[in-house]
Amino acid sequence: MAFSTFSGGIHPPENKGPSEGKAFSNLSVPQLCYIPLQQHVGKPAKPIVEEGETVREGQLIGLADGYISANVHASVPGKVVKIAEHPTVYSKRGMCVLIEAQGAFSTSGKPLESIKWESMSGLELLNRVAEAGVVGLGGAAFPTQVKLHPPRNRQIDTLIVNGSECEPYLTVDDMLMRTFPGEIVEGIRIVMKILGISKALIGVEKNKPHAIASLKKKIAELAPPENIGVAALKTKYPQGAEKQLIYSLTRREVPSGGLPMDTATVVQNVGTIFAVREAVALGKPLFERYITVTGPLVKNPGNYKVRLGSLIADVIEECGGLVAEPAKIIMGGPMCGVALDGMDVPVVKGTSGILVLGHADVRPMDYLPCIRCGRCVAVCPAGLVPNEMANAIEKGRLDLVEPSRPFDCIMCGSCSYVCPSRRPLSHFIKLAQEKLRRRQKE
Ligand code: SF4
Ligand code: SF4
Repeated sequence: MAFSTFSGGIHPPENKGPSEGKAFSNLSVPQLCYIPLQQHVGKPAKPIVEEGETVREGQLIGLADGYISANVHASVPGKVVKIAEHPTVYSKRGMCVLIEAQGAFSTSGKPLESIKWESMSGLELLNRVAEAGVVGLGGAAFPTQVKLHPPRNRQIDTLIVNGSECEPYLTVDDMLMRTFPGEIVEGIRIVMKILGISKALIGVEKNKPHAIASLKKKIAELAPPENIGVAALKTKYPQGAEKQLIYSLTRREVPSGGLPMDTATVVQNVGTIFAVREAVALGKPLFERYITVTGPLVKNPGNYKVRLGSLIADVIEECGGLVAEPAKIIMGGPMCGVALDGMDVPVVKGTSGILVLGHADVRPMDYLPCIRCGRCVAVCPAGLVPNEMANAIEKGRLDLVEPSRPFDCIMCGSCSYVCPSRRPLSHFIKLAQEKLRRRQKE
């Protein structure tokens, strides 16, 4: 049987074994929470609490500052002990609200009453998503209310749900789909209502048969039936990248420099859909999330529910600690994740996983000249010529990079992965993008 896919891409070792199929367990509530006001793309939220103030669990503590921003909520009840700079995944000096946990939990461990959202308007539902501070949980952390509110002149006909989880090691989305298929289907119906559309397609890599079966079962139980399809996709990286996923599911191509809305689609990750459902149907702000903690050095790898603002060091400690000195700690997966300088950074909304690698799993930093083997060109899902762009930027020839469409690069890292000379091609291209942006501003 042929499975839907896109051209190019790679199939690195999946390495999902250590956490695959492991049921979610709750990590302890941190005694001291470091909640960054910037956990999303856009402007940081503005703090609306003061040092010494007592806050409830889920209370709004940071107000979205402008259109592309997101609300931030207290992950624990307690006292605001400080509002100060602290390292985060996005900045060495990110502004954080430090809350010392104390007092009663208003939502945890209590059944939340389900809200009858079906009678609400799309705009009311959208406002609930914005109030709850939902952002893209696949890692991008783009404010969800913005994505779900395309300009009036753009027609959307299909919601694309990303359940592919093509990053090696990570298993959190797989477990979300297996554990909460009914909640995800409800979240999809909410998003369809917000967008005013009647069609959704969920793309899941075929290496997640339990997730596919669970979703199909829940969709079949819907009465009246809804036009929600589940497609098994080829297991290939970067199957979950927006443009590649849209093409795999609809055969529509996002034009160069374009956006998913140019193909009449909106793409949402399954984790985001789950958070939308919690925001709308339970009135619950986004102050905790599910993540995978894994890697050869983690003693008890698995899938966990964790409060935003918990320090990575505490999370790892609760997962049994490490069996050896780590060579690299990554927030997210090995392909698209961000390497951390240390473990004193907090879990944020975009943290899909924590991956700890040993020296044997990390390739050397040094690289060799290009031997023009063409492998990077063959795997590039965006149809680019990475070696030529990298060679040009190395020589400082921005003029040669610009016509090669560097902004169509989706930073998947497939080119760097296959390069026999270990050239950091995506890093070079990112550098080119930054320089070109700077030049455009001047
Ligand atoms: S050039 Fe960009 S899109 Fe192409 S393989 Fe490299 S990182 Fe991915
Ligand atoms: S894969 Fe590496 S060595 Fe081969 S053409 Fe690309 S940059 Fe050059």
